[in-house]
This record gives sequence, C-alpha cells and structure tokens, in this order.
Amino acid sequence: MTRIIDGNEIADRITADLEPCLETLADAGVTPGLATVLMSDDGASETYVSMKRQACADLGIESIHHELEPDAAADALFDRIDELNADPSVHGILVQLPVPDHVERRAVLERIDPLKDVDGFHPENVGRLVTGNPRFKPCTPHGIQKLLEAEDVETAGKDVVVVGRSNIVGKPLANLLIQKADDGNATVTICHSRTEDLAEKTRRADIVVAAAGVPELVDGSMIGEGATVIDVGVNRVDADTEKGYELVGDVEFDSASRVADAITPVPGGVGPLTITMLLYNTITAASLQTDVDVSLP
Ligand code: NAD
Repeated sequence: MTRIIDGNEIADRITADLEPCLETLADAGVTPGLATVLMSDDGASETYVSMKRQACADLGIESIHHELEPDAAADALFDRIDELNADPSVHGILVQLPVPDHVERRAVLERIDPLKDVDGFHPENVGRLVTGNPRFKPCTPHGIQKLLEAEDVETAGKDVVVVGRSNIVGKPLANLLIQKADDGNATVTICHSRTEDLAEKTRRADIVVAAAGVPELVDGSMIGEGATVIDVGVNRVDADTEKGYELVGDVEFDSASRVADAITPVPGGVGPLTITMLLYNTITAASLQTDVDVSLP
C-alpha cells in the first residue's frame, strides 16, 4: 500500500512543538514579530502572504504587513526594508517573491539584514548553509527534510534526484541533503531544464523530489518501485471549478502513487510544512536577536 504523506498532520505536530519556544520567549518579554512585504497584485502571492500571516496569528507571532504598489520605485522597497531592518520589534522580514521586473531580486535579498532573513536567501545565509553551519534553512527544503524525518525515510546513503535547480527549492535542498548530518548524507543528483533523459535518472532514485513548476512532469513510468516521491509543484491549471482553475503538482499523482512507497499530495503535502518552517525561522530569529535560548523541535 502506498503511503500518502499527510503534510498538514506533520506541520500541526511541529507547530505544537513550537509553542514551548514561544512561552520561553514570552517569559523573557519577547514576542516574535514577522514583517511581510508584498509588492505585487498577483493572486497567488496575495494568498501565500495571507496564509503566512494567519499562521503567525494562530501561533502568537506578531505579523506586521506592508504593501507597495507593483509600479512603485525600487527605492521605495529598499527604504521599507531598511526601516524593518532597524525596527527591534521585527525579528523576521519576508519579501514575497517574485518582485516586479524593475526591481532586482538579488538586490532585495541582499538588502535584508541576514539576522532577519527568515527565508534564508541572503548570500551570507546561503554560504553558511553550504558550508554546513546553517542559520536559517530555507523553508521549503527544510520542510521537506522534516517530512522525510517524520515518515522515517532514511536519507543517509540513499540516491536522491531533485528535479529543479532554483535558489528557493532545488539548490538549497540538494545542499541540505548532502551535508554530513543525520538528515543528510544522501547522494544527490540535481536535474533541470537541460538535463538529458530525466526519466532514466529519476527511475534509479530512492527519493524523487519534483520542483520544476511543470504540471505532472513526473509520472509513474519515471519512478522506481518503492521510491519516496515528494511533489513540491503548485501549478494553477484551467479547470471547470468555481475559481476557474485547480492546483496540480509536478507529479502525476495517480500513476506515481501506483509505484511509489510513499508520496506527498498536492495540496496538503509540502505546502503546509513551508509555512510551519517560516514560523520556526521567525522564532529562531527572535531567539538569536534577543539572546533568549529556545529548544527548537
Ligand atoms: P523555478 O521556476 O524557479 O525553477 C524551476 C526549475 O525547474 C528550474 O531550475 C528549471 O531548470 C527546472 N525545470 C523546468 N522545466 C523542467 C523540465 N522539463 N525538466 C527538468 N527540470 C525542469 O521554480 P521554483 O521556485 O523552484 O518552484 C518550483 C515549483 O514548486 C513551482 O510549481 C512552485 O509553485 C512550487 N513551490 C512550492 C512551494 C511549496 O511550499 N509547496 C514552495 C516553493 C515553490
């Protein structure tokens, strides 16, 4: 029987384990604060930000929201980031990506104080992660590690194929999984848009992670018997629904679930963990900035 990995359940468990951290901080007079900045009128981005804010409110993290018009000057965003960097009540800063084309993404990520960089995308934090001394692990890759751990999926010595080389998912995940660490020690192959014969590579993997942003790119014929399949993709495809679309992963669920040992659904797989790990990183940031030790799960 294929196990359908319940991301909501795992996320709820980790969130419950974060509560004592908040109590420790509260005893020291600290309420973690997360600033979200949205410079877009894209519906999906608005939804992601509101889900993150709701998760903060549910757990007792203060959520401070800022919006800029998509056609505002890049400097308006940089000035806002500078203000948030200087505000001691803000422990984490999240600029929802993508930013408009006239704003250089790299400059935005570099502007955020590395100690408040709860997305983990600042080059200083990327460098720390790659060299095995992470401060903030990017939320989605960290969430995937937590999913694998919760499902007792061993990574040590296993072959992992990551489909996608983005700075947000593919690259940091591969870097985490190769680390000499209990939740690493894997042999990782990164595939991307120029990879030849993708199926041949995914088929020999013990763990396949699909993060390409291509609906149903990976089907059952590309999965080896007994593999674990992690579907990161969230793609809106036209459908005869109330909203006019439905969410589809990067994996063709029906055929893949016939061969896989365990598989994440979309939605309800990786997504909930991404949000939980943002809460985790915000608590980490508050702890680091206030010198209050917390015992993270
Ligand atoms: P991206 O567009 O930045 O990167 C996609 C990567 O996939 C690229 O590196 C590209 O080389 C590779 N790729 C594209 N087509 C390919 C193909 N045919 N074969 C092999 N590789 C191919 O995307 P991203 O930001 O990494 O996101 C990937 C997907 O994950 C998207 O659907 C996104 O919405 C989703 N996502 C979900 C979460 C979550 O929490 N569930 C978080 C982040 C991203």
